[in-house]
Order: sequence, then structure tokens, then C-alpha cells
Amino acid sequence: MSGRSKEWAKLPPDIQTLIESQQKLAPIKLSEIARLLGIEVRSATLPMGISGEIRPSVGNGKFTIKVNRHDDPKRQRFTVAHELAHFLLHREFIGNGLSDDVLYRSSLSDAKEAQANRLAADIIMPMHLIQVIQTRAHLAGVEDIVLTLAEALNVSTIAMQIRIDRA
Ligand SMILES: [Zn+2]
Repeated sequence: MSGRSKEWAKLPPDIQTLIESQQKLAPIKLSEIARLLGIEVRSATLPMGISGEIRPSVGNGKFTIKVNRHDDPKRQRFTVAHELAHFLLHREFIGNGLSDDVLYRSSLSDAKEAQANRLAADIIMPMHLIQVIQTRAHLAGVEDIVLTLAEALNVSTIAMQIRIDRA
């Protein structure tokens, strides 16, 4: 299994350390990562077909992430991680705001969306925790490892399967 993505490798060391400080136990404390980055996260009713957005907060130079409260809670978590990744990788392209549809497409290029998805996976499903949980599950004779991992990390089984397949 490979480690972190090339997007992760580009993050400044202090940001890597900040994220890693919240990745010691599953599930990852996403709201704490956002708070440490100075980002407000809110669950909101967004336009139909929109899963999340990030935009500058009014007046304080910070950013606010909104996730569609009608989405499945596990999907909302991935959306928060995806928007955090845009903040970390694409801040200069956020402008007045970015909205991601249900397929995580926005006004940014597909390449940038793929970058955001890879970094989001690193944030919410770090390989070091996957390996620990996998080893424990194998020893315990658990049959559905993907389900066990998804539940431990509080992500969808689809997101977990993609993570494992690409590792
Ligand atoms: Zn996006």
C-alpha cells in the first residue's frame, strides 16, 4: 500500500502536522481540523444538486464551508474533507466562492477536482489508520474488512472501497 498523495506532499509541514494531530484515532476529527484552520463548517440547505461549497466569510478574511444537510452524514463528511482540500490546495481560485455538485464538479478543472478528492481521502482515510484497523480486523477474523474500515472511519463503503482499490 502506498502512503500519502502528491497533493499531501505539497502541503507545508506545519499544515501536515496540524492535520496529523487529529488523525491519531478513528474517526478523524474533521471539525477540529477545520477549526484549527480557522474555517467555519455549517450544515445547510443548499441548492438542489449541490453537495458543498466554500466561500470567504464576510468581513474577517476567513472561509466558511457549507455542506448539504440533506445528504447522508457520511457523504457530508467527505464533502467537508473535499472543501478543506480546496482551501488547502486551491485557495487562490476560490474567489467569491466555489460550489461542488454531487459529483464534486465545480468551476475548477477536473484535474483540480481530482487533486481535491485525493487530498480529501488522505485527510479522512489516512493509510496508517487503515493499516492498523485492517490488521486488527484480520486477527479478529472479520470477513467484511471494507465495511469494518468504513464504520471505523465514518465514511461510506463506496468511498472506502475506492480508497483501498487505489492504494
Ligand atoms: Zn470540488
